[in-house]
Amino acid sequence: MILNILLIVVVLVFFLAAFLLIRTLMFPRPFTAAEPAELVEVEAEVVAEHLATIIKCETISLLGEATGEGDNPAGRRAFYELQLRLHEMYPRLHATLEQQIFNDFSLLYAWKGKNPELPPAVLMAHVDVVPAAPDSLDQWEYPPFSGAIADGFVWGRGTLDIKSQVIGLMESVETLLKQDYQPERTVYLAFGHDEEIGGQNGCKRMVQWFADNDIRPGVVLDEGSEIADGIVPGAAVPVALVGNAEKGSMVLQLTATTESGHSAFPPRQSSIGVLSQAIAFLEHDQMPAHVNMVLPVFKRVAAAMPFSQQLALANLWLFRGMIQKRLESNPQTNAIIRSTTAPTIIHAGDRPNVLPGTAQAAVNFRIRPGDTIASVCDHVRKVVDDPRVQFEVRENFTWEASPMSETDCTSYRLLERTIQQVFDNVPVAPFLVLGATDARYYRDLCDQVYRFTPVVSTAEDLHRVHGINERIGVEAMGKMVQFYVQLIKSWGEDF
Ligand SMILES: [Zn+2]
Repeated sequence: MILNILLIVVVLVFFLAAFLLIRTLMFPRPFTAAEPAELVEVEAEVVAEHLATIIKCETISLLGEATGEGDNPAGRRAFYELQLRLHEMYPRLHATLEQQIFNDFSLLYAWKGKNPELPPAVLMAHVDVVPAAPDSLDQWEYPPFSGAIADGFVWGRGTLDIKSQVIGLMESVETLLKQDYQPERTVYLAFGHDEEIGGQNGCKRMVQWFADNDIRPGVVLDEGSEIADGIVPGAAVPVALVGNAEKGSMVLQLTATTESGHSAFPPRQSSIGVLSQAIAFLEHDQMPAHVNMVLPVFKRVAAAMPFSQQLALANLWLFRGMIQKRLESNPQTNAIIRSTTAPTIIHAGDRPNVLPGTAQAAVNFRIRPGDTIASVCDHVRKVVDDPRVQFEVRENFTWEASPMSETDCTSYRLLERTIQQVFDNVPVAPFLVLGATDARYYRDLCDQVYRFTPVVSTAEDLHRVHGINERIGVEAMGKMVQFYVQLIKSWGEDF
């Protein structure tokens, strides 16, 4: 009898193993190499010099002017200086493209196509940067606004975020103009000047101009993601992540109210206790996870993953829970699969012997496509479930998640092909951008909005963004120009 049961178990295990294995072997690993292209020759050192020139302009976003809290003449001068330098470095571009300036500093260039009937392409970047923290200056190998070129890199604030893209794009247009190229469709270069503080006076105004003039772009490309080297868990090769969506954001203000009074005879729970409990509940009961958000990336790189991971991916019916646990254990991957909850501000009380009647907190939710501000609010109400806690959505820092742009369309396929042609056929996968980009303003104007910078980044490089010792390789600048020349030639044509 026991022997029979054992035999049945062995047979079942055998069939299960065979089933898992067959599914793994049959798991599709879509990959086709792009047909090779003859790339333009670029003098990377010259491009690096051009980048260094505008790194020296301290174009830190003009926060005071945006909020109406004060003039910043030195700050403004830096932006004018940058415009002047761009004029000097790219004479053909400035002689040929129509230029408009929004709010003094945001730059929109129109390169008229031969066929005005075609919907235009918009290539974005921004000219503002974040400051370098004063207490970090002694840790920079070269001062953040020196634009030093050393050890094969251009150093300084804005090299990665994202003056490199400004230069890459302008250099490419200048190069194509030298070849007497004119695109079939109109190509816009759109550079905001306040992306780092929300884009309200820059990109938002430019998008308004497109809308007012009834111009609906066929495709938009901004920053937001890159070629990730050693970042995608399990992937043994670099992966080009193309942001086809970005998360939304909501700041919810929580206010707990109880009676104030003397701390010598407190009630069982003070406003501070009530609020803390609400926050603890919210951190404990997170919004639900959606493993499907990362599957497109994993499927693209499955062939370069260890067999055990391929087995798990091919048999999600069995391993979904395990994969979810792995993804949840890392804050970055956790943020891809769910709307996240981050308490960021808390205020209550100002005397040690007085019970405050109110306690307030702000919680920042980052909303994945599929969830909405309303659905997150519903979740909060259900989880907190306490009439002593009131909620209010703050206008500032609150917007819905972007729609997911198509990937089954010509413009995406051309983008994918261009990436593969310039970067040794790396796998390309659509990806959810976790931060906010100016591209979100195009949501009502264009269905094909992508976020991708043609540069290879390691985890260490990502730390340098908004951090210390920001830098980009001289060679990487050359590649960037090759990429944009190729992309403009692809997207510029009629398709
Ligand atoms: Zn940026």
